[in-house]
Amino acid sequence: MLARNQPRRRQSLLERYGGQLGELVERQRARAALETARQNAETAAEQTRAAMKETERANRALRDEMSQRLKALADLEYLANHDPLTDLANRNLFNERLDQVLDRARRTGEAVALMILDVDHFKDVNDTLGHQVGDELLRVIGKRLAASVRAEDTVARLGGDEFALIQVGLNYPTDANVQAERILRALAEPVHVANHKLFPMGSIGITVFPSDADTAQKLQQNADLAMYRAKADHRSSYRFFDADLNSLSERRNFLEQQLRGALDYEQLMIYFQPKVSIRHGKPVGAEALLRWMHPEQGMIPPSEFIPVAEKTGMIAELGEWTLTHACRQFKQWHDAGYAQMKLAVNLSAAQFSLLDVPDMVRRVTSETGFDPTKLELEITETAVMSDLHNAVEVLTDLHEVGVNLSIDDFGTGYSSLSYLRQLPVNRIKIDRSFIAEVDTADTAATIARAVVNLGQSLGLEIVAEGVESAEQLAYLREINCDEAQGYYYSEPIPADAFEKYLREHVGPATPLVN
Ligand code: C2E
Ligand code: MG
Ligand code: MG
Repeated sequence: MLARNQPRRRQSLLERYGGQLGELVERQRARAALETARQNAETAAEQTRAAMKETERANRALRDEMSQRLKALADLEYLANHDPLTDLANRNLFNERLDQVLDRARRTGEAVALMILDVDHFKDVNDTLGHQVGDELLRVIGKRLAASVRAEDTVARLGGDEFALIQVGLNYPTDANVQAERILRALAEPVHVANHKLFPMGSIGITVFPSDADTAQKLQQNADLAMYRAKADHRSSYRFFDADLNSLSERRNFLEQQLRGALDYEQLMIYFQPKVSIRHGKPVGAEALLRWMHPEQGMIPPSEFIPVAEKTGMIAELGEWTLTHACRQFKQWHDAGYAQMKLAVNLSAAQFSLLDVPDMVRRVTSETGFDPTKLELEITETAVMSDLHNAVEVLTDLHEVGVNLSIDDFGTGYSSLSYLRQLPVNRIKIDRSFIAEVDTADTAATIARAVVNLGQSLGLEIVAEGVESAEQLAYLREINCDEAQGYYYSEPIPADAFEKYLREHVGPATPLVN
């Protein structure tokens, strides 16, 4: 019975508890789900915390890097705007300040003075006492300049031994005098450096805005020019720019600007002027003379552009260009059979301080395959005398390269033959101002004779330049002068004309057979 009833009981139990059981299962499932969700949330929170930490660390690193970079940037900016030796503003910052000051002055109508100061004889200090002493001197000068101006003024070191000062708010242009005198007084105090007692001096050029010029560039040119004049007039002095200087500077600026393009635009040429042996009347060589054919201005004489090239430093490039092209041309003539022709090229003393001239000459002769013993370098007497010590050194080195050396324009400088003994020169060229008068003025004739006699007794060959007439030549032959050069034979002429000259006066080219 009982057994028969069992299925029914189960059925009723199910009916009774089935609903509760389902609920229980449901609840357990929900709890499990909740637990999973909680665990998930915790993991997520953990991950978020880790991510936040990571972000914080990265932020910190970024902040550190940013501040480092900012500092580097500030350092760089300082370096870009200051002169490391004196800590003064450098040319960069000076230009920026000058622009700002002029902008303001245009609005307010105030006057501004620009001064450029160049230390006198600084090169001597550097050369004789060494660069360390030179640097220390510049540092002291920088400090003195900074101390003698007002806070609103700017002192800068433009480079080398050149400083600049912008003086604002002038009541009268002559306020600048007072400032310049104060600076020169401050400078003149002795400086003690490494057991040396130095008395620094400077030359100052002054220009005033707006009366002299209204742009920064023009003002700088004015001040520069006035400074050069101050230096030439009387060292340790100041000089205001004036209109007389202006026309000179206009031309100089023009040439300076144009000269930069001359090499690039192939406006430069070399002309050759024959040198003739007086004894047998045959050409023995030529002097290379630079010519600048300007597209609008026509031929600009070297007497005008060489000084500009010297002043701007372009003479280094120009000199090397001339030597290279002259040697290359002459090498062709040598190879064509005129192997005995000597080439003379002018050298500027300004090249000495710009580059290692003996090294340059060695390089050029080797690159062009030109025999250095056939090369003569002409350097003017005044250039040699202006820095005899240095000239002796450079000429001695050049002598070792194997080239010949001659003193150009002899008689226009100190006219002393005694210094020639110190120099390894082979020849002297009597200046054409004497030659022009040898047949008419007794003094010129006497000087020419004395130069030939004394020069030859020192073992030198004598060349007369600027020979224009048969009478002059006759006199030169009489006094036994070696060579002559001048319009009497030929003016300086282009290469193709010179080749023709050689054919006519030496004979047809007979190439060397190898
Ligand atoms: P310099 O070296 O004394 O050259 C001789 C100058 O006298 C040349 O002037 C020449 O044309 C001129 N001359 C020649 N024969 C006569 C004559 O019979 N009568 C007259 N009145 N003059 C004559 P240029 O070519 O105008 O050169 C002038 C100066 O420019 C040269 O004088 C030289 O010091 C310089 N120069 C020329 N080319 C160069 C160069 O490549 N480098 C350097 N550093 N200076 C150069
Ligand atoms: Mg010459
Ligand atoms: Mg000369």
